[in-house]
Amino acid sequence: MMPSLADKAERNPPHHVPYDAWGNRIDDIQVEDAWLELVRIGQEAGLVAMPHQAHFGRYARVVQAGLVNLFDPASAVATCPLVMTDGAAHVLSQHDPELASRYVPRLTARRDAWTAGQWMTEKEGGSDVSRSSTVARPNGDGSWSLHGTKWFTSATTADVALALARTENASEGSAGLSLFLLELRTTDGHWNGIKVRRLKDKLGTHALPTAELDLVGAIAHPVGELGRGTAKLGGLLNIARLWASLGGPAGVGYLLDLARDYAQRRYTFGSFLCHNPVHQRWLARIAAEYEAMIALNMEAALAIGSAEHGGDTLMSRLLAPLTKLACARESIWAASELVESFGGAGYVEDTGIPRVFRNIHVHCIWEGTTSVLAHDVMRVLAHSEYGEAFMADLRRRYAGISIDALDGVKARIDDAIRQLRPMVAQPKTCDARRLAWGMARTYQALLLAEAAQWQLSCKLDDRGLVAAELFARSPLVEADMSDVPDSMVAGLANGNVADSALDIAG
Ligand SMILES: Cc1cc2nc3c(=O)[nH]c(=O)nc-3n(C[C@H](O)[C@H](O)[C@H](O)COP(=O)(O)OP(=O)(O)OC[C@H]3O[C@@H](n4cnc5c(N)ncnc54)[C@H](O)[C@@H]3O)c2cc1C
Repeated sequence: MMPSLADKAERNPPHHVPYDAWGNRIDDIQVEDAWLELVRIGQEAGLVAMPHQAHFGRYARVVQAGLVNLFDPASAVATCPLVMTDGAAHVLSQHDPELASRYVPRLTARRDAWTAGQWMTEKEGGSDVSRSSTVARPNGDGSWSLHGTKWFTSATTADVALALARTENASEGSAGLSLFLLELRTTDGHWNGIKVRRLKDKLGTHALPTAELDLVGAIAHPVGELGRGTAKLGGLLNIARLWASLGGPAGVGYLLDLARDYAQRRYTFGSFLCHNPVHQRWLARIAAEYEAMIALNMEAALAIGSAEHGGDTLMSRLLAPLTKLACARESIWAASELVESFGGAGYVEDTGIPRVFRNIHVHCIWEGTTSVLAHDVMRVLAHSEYGEAFMADLRRRYAGISIDALDGVKARIDDAIRQLRPMVAQPKTCDARRLAWGMARTYQALLLAEAAQWQLSCKLDDRGLVAAELFARSPLVEADMSDVPDSMVAGLANGNVADSALDIAG
């Protein structure tokens, strides 16, 4: 059997060649052709181009999400440069017509297209970029030179990158950061003032060249006016979070298909696994979670696509962090269960299962960790119109569920909405994770109930009903633990670590 492109790419990870045979510093990053081929396949299928062209209108992100769902598990995370390119094209189009006219057609082409990176994370922090120390100095000709270290830069095969940097004398904190665009290599193929420290040795995403880079006078151009660097990344983050929310469920869907097939063929204790009630209940529980993830993915894609086409922006701003935090986390649980469902085979590399499992984990880290996204939701809810729009959407969907078979599901959703109502109205007093998680899961339960109603009445198919039942029986809003005082929680969380060791920020 021919190895898949993804297998080939993962088995031959990128490597860094710092010097040539003459001892000259070259910092070559050698990447497996199979991985570059996967990037090309994604570009030619229109995964980047689609939302930037008029063809599918407000549904473009839904079509894109569907294709990403199919492509991602076989892509060896070649989706990473595609996400960043999609996001860069969006930012340039929104904030700098001149740079956009020069770069967006190249970034969104289907053939011989360019890719883009995004360089935010520094040693000082990724969740909190306000302490970024990369400095931008003017060259006097409209261009700037960047100096500093970018600590995580994925897809160093990119042609251009968006980078945050602080102009000299700009204020401290996020307010002093500007956004710059740079080409990674000069026209003669040399690095543009960039030195590669090393490639990261990672838990997963093995085919993806993620490097630590020193910027030593990289020539760059401001995106729009100087300042508001992090604000300009807002639209990019919505897109990147949507993509990051798709990867986990895509991998789970792939593993679930394999698990169903395995259960049809694996004979244990006198019967096939697919006839074993314990195994059936377990797979059904995972399948319900998968359906809930896909439903939220697609609804977020529709909301973001609609906002990009002049529609309402309130729900898209909330659904982007909600789908990312819920699906990235739920998919790790589901994938871990599915690995076990194959017994030993799930742990063995030649089945391809460990590769998919490893690559799912990254989605809860990049583009904002779970807690950071929960804080983001709190920040949004501080403007009451967002919470009001969310609660109105819940009520509208709830009112549309009318068939008796869903009464039990409705009762659980009703209970969850009652708990959420005061929290959404007064987010400051809540545990951010409990609130965001509760919002996501209640929304998912409603989406499943809507789908179940449609499937039952239009297709006479009760699988959606079972998915809604199983999903809604898990807690939609987690138990309230706010009566356990913060001081006691801190004692358990911090354990016996000495105060001095905790002060790593120095
Ligand atoms: C494979 C890979 C590729 C990457 N590629 C890129 C890239 O191309 N470009 C780029 O810019 N970055 C990239 N990153 C970096 C990634 O975006 C950051 O790692 C991520 O944002 C987290 O930042 P951090 O590593 O500084 O962790 P920290 O910010 O130190 O977070 C540590 C923990 O603290 C928690 N935490 C932080 N703040 C709060 C808070 N206010 N409240 C509660 N909890 C909090 C977090 O949830 C987390 O659990 C990549 C990361 C990985 C793993």
